[in-house]
Amino acid sequence: MNTGLGRRIATWLIFLMVIAALSAGVWRYAYWQGLNQLSARGKADLSVASDRLVAQLQRYRDLAVFLADHPQVSDVLQGRARGTARDFLQDVADKSAALDVRVVDMAGRVLASPRSAPGEVLIDLPIVGRALRGALGWGHGPSLPLTDRAYFHAAPVFDDAGQVQGAVVVSTDLNGIDYGWRGSNPTAFFTDDAGVVQISNRSEMLFWQRPKGTLGLIPPDGAALAFKAGSVNGHEIWQMGWGPYLPDEALHLTTPLPIVGFIGEVLLDVAPARRLALSQAAAVAALCLAFGALLFLATERRRALSQANVRLERQVAKRTAALNASNTELRREAAEREEAQAALRRAQADLVQAGKLSALGQMSAGISHELNQPLMAIKSYAENAGQFMARDKPERVTENLSRISQMADRMARIIQNLRAFARQESVPQTQVDVTRVVASAIELTQSYLAKAGVTLEYTPPDAPVWVRGGEVRLSQVFVNLITNAADAMADAQTRKLTIHIDWTDAVLVQFMDTGPGIEMPDKVFDPFYTTKSVGGSSGMGLGLSISYGIVQSLGGKIRGKNLDDGGAMFSVRLERAQMTEAAA
Ligand code: ADP
Repeated sequence: MNTGLGRRIATWLIFLMVIAALSAGVWRYAYWQGLNQLSARGKADLSVASDRLVAQLQRYRDLAVFLADHPQVSDVLQGRARGTARDFLQDVADKSAALDVRVVDMAGRVLASPRSAPGEVLIDLPIVGRALRGALGWGHGPSLPLTDRAYFHAAPVFDDAGQVQGAVVVSTDLNGIDYGWRGSNPTAFFTDDAGVVQISNRSEMLFWQRPKGTLGLIPPDGAALAFKAGSVNGHEIWQMGWGPYLPDEALHLTTPLPIVGFIGEVLLDVAPARRLALSQAAAVAALCLAFGALLFLATERRRALSQANVRLERQVAKRTAALNASNTELRREAAEREEAQAALRRAQADLVQAGKLSALGQMSAGISHELNQPLMAIKSYAENAGQFMARDKPERVTENLSRISQMADRMARIIQNLRAFARQESVPQTQVDVTRVVASAIELTQSYLAKAGVTLEYTPPDAPVWVRGGEVRLSQVFVNLITNAADAMADAQTRKLTIHIDWTDAVLVQFMDTGPGIEMPDKVFDPFYTTKSVGGSSGMGLGLSISYGIVQSLGGKIRGKNLDDGGAMFSVRLERAQMTEAAA
């Protein structure tokens, strides 16, 4: 369990690290792309700003060149019409928005100007010297007291002989040029050869200076401001704390403007590129996390399912083992029960046999009488036959011999019945003719009934009545019922036993007597229940219980009840059977 949790935490940590690495890669790539785009845009912006500056300044150079050829300027230089020249120059300055327009002689002295005092010497200005040498001059510097930032263009004025006779100096107030750009984006500024910011759309940056050998700028008061320069994918990135109107981190681009003597520089805020890169990295991270979460949920679900499966399998195995154990127990119990049933069957068979032998014992007197009588008869028939033979009466001898033969047949039948009765029936017969069994039982008990003085009333059916059962066992049941009836009627006035076979539906064999009736009808089938005294015709109380078992085993029923007009009736209900060849 703990190992599983540890493994899951480790997997998550690795997954998070992979996501972090991937996001960092995405961020880096997106940032570089953003810087490339920013650089391209910045270059375009810088080019526009530079073109605009150059165009604005070039106008004044053209004006200087144009004025150098003007007749009024020549007049001034030749000492003519100096009074009206000032008005003319004033008019030109007003119309061109120039700060000042001055005409200077070869000594650098101002001869005419709308703003400067005549006689002022400008020879110190390098551009004036250059113009007086016959070339165009341009540059920047203060033009006090008018402005601290002025741009000058100086053009030489030639006489008819082509000699320089003076120069026209047009000065421009740079405040007027960058005033219109203030606050526009991005931050742009123009530095001169000394690294001083001369023109900028951020006024706070004016006159900031680049110390030699460094990239950054410092304010004129020399205060050290936070600055760090670095390179990202070939781009120069400045990190600075230069105030609220300047970016904290910027891409620095430059372009030289030799035509006006400045270097154009631009600072592009990289924060949007950073934000874009960050949002792209965050989107990738979020996607990966969402995917990871889904994967995690799926694996968690699979894990939970497999755990439940394992639990289920364990339970099933446990229950199967329990079932197997109870099955084994059941099989053992069944085997024990079968053994007990076999023992019971053996005991029953022994009881049946014991019951039969007991019945034979009871009937032995009658049986011996039954056998004795024909024996006596045979004896006297044989003696008589001898006498008839002596008297030469062969027909009487034949008659006697035939009677002897009949008597022997009868005795053989009795003995055959006895043997059959005493035999232990192992394989039960399936079908038997119930009329034959009843006849055999009557024959067996005939002498017993006669001795007890019982009259038998029985009309056998015309045809055989086939029932399910074994002849010997059924005969035992009937013999028992007949002898019981005879015993019960021992003290009765009328002693009549009626046997009736009814085969309309199932086969019903009824034994009705005229005895005193059954004392305890619900007890008679209990083993060892007997009312017979030991002295008289003693009983073991097993006859009816054995009969009950036999009939039950044949799928039949045995009942005993008292008749309304006295006496008892025992009925044996048996299942009908179809007569077959074998049974027949
Ligand atoms: P036993 O004949 O040895 O007593 P049985 O089981 O055959 O054993 O009979 C049990 C008892 O049932 C008898 O003792 C008797 O009291 C009673 N009984 C059986 N048949 C009859 C009958 N036909 N009339 C009255 N009582 C009977």
